[in-house]
Amino acid sequence: MKNPLIFVSTCPSCGRQQLQHGHTRRALTKLIESRQIIDAYCLECDVVWAVTAEERAVIAGAITTRQGSMESDCVTGLIETKQQRPQAAQ
Ligand SMILES: [Zn+2]
Repeated sequence: MKNPLIFVSTCPSCGRQQLQHGHTRRALTKLIESRQIIDAYCLECDVVWAVTAEERAVIAGAITTRQGSMESDCVTGLIETKQQRPQAAQ
């Protein structure tokens, strides 16, 4: 696939963060610009859901900040921030 933009979305069924690589950057740009639903998928649960507003914002940010000539991007910022939250609360 051409320029897949990989992002994470939390599965509503198992609560795990699942990597999403079914959308190209171009497709995601189109979905965000036209305010359409971006769907995510969990292989383990076989569930499809719409990404949250927070996740959309992360994707939008990844689209606008191009990282040089990388062929694909992986949005890992959300994984790090979400994993740090429970630890900080303890
Ligand atoms: Zn799941």
